[in-house]
Amino acid sequence: MIQWEHIDTVLFDMDGTLLDLHFDNYFWEEFVPQRYAQKNSVSVDQAREHLLAEYRAIEGTMNWYCIDHWSEQLELDIPALKRELDHLIQIRPGAADFLERLRAMGKQMALVTNAHHKSLSLKMERTRLQHFFDLIVCAHDYGYPKEENAFWQTLAQREKLDLSRCLLVDDSLRVMQQAAASGVAQVVGIRKPDSQRPAQDAAGFVSIDHWSELLTGEQTG
Ligand SMILES: [Mg+2]
Repeated sequence: MIQWEHIDTVLFDMDGTLLDLHFDNYFWEEFVPQRYAQKNSVSVDQAREHLLAEYRAIEGTMNWYCIDHWSEQLELDIPALKRELDHLIQIRPGAADFLERLRAMGKQMALVTNAHHKSLSLKMERTRLQHFFDLIVCAHDYGYPKEENAFWQTLAQREKLDLSRCLLVDDSLRVMQQAAASGVAQVVGIRKPDSQRPAQDAAGFVSIDHWSELLTGEQTG
């Protein structure tokens, strides 16, 4: 499926790709509404309806991914709430083995995430995946989310990456479309980013259930 001889660098998304998106979905759609409801003396349903509208209004922007923004906006300590729920942070099955295999193949490996630094460090603390990566890029450092061309151009320039020799694995359709349009050679999606939800439509992109699908035809392993 992947022409590995044409790939030098593999770019991995974090939430929904390496990690189960269940944590994030549950956190924002259940846990935060519960706490918001308690604090503001409204029902959980009312809180959820209000919050989902607030999320949607800025979806895909840098603020949407910014924990400080939400702490301030909702007057809740979002990092502390994440910590309360951190037992739900889970690596998607087979991800660590796959990273090990890629390292053995000699590929450069990068984590590229829209997640805020505080979220990124909590997740690395829980999963210990950081040692697999040659490079960890947090979109907040560039000031552009992966949904924008400027992110990919900044990545290529600052990290001296040839996007035409990169593979991206990501669960966000908007990010996948932008990466392909910005020159990333191969883009692969994740069929079931959240283990508790149905599979998603990858709209023409190849998407995988199991990491081993990416190694089909790989001769060195
Ligand atoms: Mg993701």
